[in-house]
Amino acid sequence: MSLAEQLDSVDAGTAGTVDRHSTTETFESTAPATGAVVGVFPVHDAAAVAETVARARTAAEQWAALGWDGRKQRLAAYRGYLARRMHELSDLVHRENGKPHADAILEIALTVDHLAWAAGHARKALGPRKVPSGMLAANHAAYLEYQPLGVIGVIGPWNYPVFTPMGSIAYALAAGNAVVFKPSEHTPAVGAWLAAAWRAAVPDVPDAFQVVTGFGSTGAALCRVPVDKLAFTGSAATGKKVMATCAETLTPVLMELGGKDAMIVDDDADVAAAADAAVWGAMSNGGQTCIGIERIYATEAVYDRFVAEVTAQVSSLRPGSDGEATYGPMTMASQIDVVRRHVADAAAAGARVVTGGTDADAFPAEGYVAPTVLLDVPDDSSAITEETFGPTLTITRVRDAEEGLQRANATSYGLAGAIFSGSKDKAMDLARRMRSGMTSINSVLTFASVPALPFGGVGDSGFGRIHGEDGLKEFTRAKAITRQRYALPVNLMSFGRPEKAADALARVMGMVHGSKR
Ligand code: NDP
Repeated sequence: MSLAEQLDSVDAGTAGTVDRHSTTETFESTAPATGAVVGVFPVHDAAAVAETVARARTAAEQWAALGWDGRKQRLAAYRGYLARRMHELSDLVHRENGKPHADAILEIALTVDHLAWAAGHARKALGPRKVPSGMLAANHAAYLEYQPLGVIGVIGPWNYPVFTPMGSIAYALAAGNAVVFKPSEHTPAVGAWLAAAWRAAVPDVPDAFQVVTGFGSTGAALCRVPVDKLAFTGSAATGKKVMATCAETLTPVLMELGGKDAMIVDDDADVAAAADAAVWGAMSNGGQTCIGIERIYATEAVYDRFVAEVTAQVSSLRPGSDGEATYGPMTMASQIDVVRRHVADAAAAGARVVTGGTDADAFPAEGYVAPTVLLDVPDDSSAITEETFGPTLTITRVRDAEEGLQRANATSYGLAGAIFSGSKDKAMDLARRMRSGMTSINSVLTFASVPALPFGGVGDSGFGRIHGEDGLKEFTRAKAITRQRYALPVNLMSFGRPEKAADALARVMGMVHGSKR
């Protein structure tokens, strides 16, 4: 029986580690497209979470003891397991999250690539190395290494239920930690599948990656256990609660939060390509993408052509759950109210609604939102200031790219963004000055598919990084060691040092560093 089939027949707990606890309360995960039950999962209480983390502590020691090669080999087995079952997992993602199969496949493919990179680069990024010991400690050897923290708690959202949590899980495991993952209450089956796959692929250290399920209180219990670090991905509002809970136990946190990403379309941009990227960046996954494009600033020179291109392109999009649909239903029904409010606010403030809107056509069936394009929305409107997280985009006319950058940066968020420009130097300059953790030039979202690049935000979009060397180091502590190679006749860090030693040191420092330049 495949894992997906097992999940079909799931009761309180054939998935993940859930069957090992005595928790009796359960909850259902339902398909957003049909309302059908995808699985039934336990609500893990604080005792069950503590039990899971205790098992993870033992596993963390076994996992760390395997060394770089042992872990790399097992991470390869896990990656291979996922790669061979991409269709099975994408079917589950399609059912539980609602996104089209092809999008789920893309998400899993990116995850597999990140797993390969993290496992392949962990030793080089984190392993022991000698560093220069400097003038004052020339008789010592200096060593640096990055040691695992122990057990990492991961709390994830539902919008990319494989890719997003695995950005923390894969890098934490590759760095030598064990992981306990609490998936969103909207996608517990995907989380449980990922952990069950781990146990199948890595049977000798099955508890290095476990799942607990439930609601916010289960996540809060994971913060309080405590774990050695809590990697949170979700909204800024919940992120603040998680930080406050983690503060009780001084548990360090990684915060991957929401965004209000902007695209700037400059005078010499390829307008058709920019429109294609904008529509994908804003509407794919039903707009439920943390790094989705929500605001576009197009210069006067290209504005009319750009609006025409976007309007033409969105006319061929169709939300649905069939094989031909371009994007699926809203995974979380309550998000529709947010979209409706933002569109209504914008329209009331004088914005032009090109497609979508607030009437029945804009919501073609329960759970679905039509592609929505709003023009010249006032800067203080909620559609500009708050994360919408729906298949919407605003297009605003600006004098030039410089004004576009100023307005793009005028947000409390700072996750990512995009620049479309025909000039490499100008685009690079704008990208550097964009207040965001990531920017792609002449494409959207590309940075997420480059495993060597760090991923994370500034401001209300959070702090800390997943992916790349920074993402590996995020789950470690730097360890510094010195070893005296030979004793010097004069030891400055001894009460036995000669009286004149400090004066001699001051003279030497003056000669080496004191020259006026
Ligand atoms: P939420 O903030 O609502 O929830 C995120 C996770 O936190 C869920 O697992 C949730 O559990 C859990 N949670 C809720 N309350 C608490 C609590 N008090 N203590 C501990 N955990 C808690 O986000 P969504 O799931 O709605 O995801 C969408 C958000 O995630 C958007 O803002 C999006 O931009 C952001 N995001 C950011 C990404 C990034 O990398 N920067 C990537 C993807 C999404 P439960 O669901 O059971 O309530």
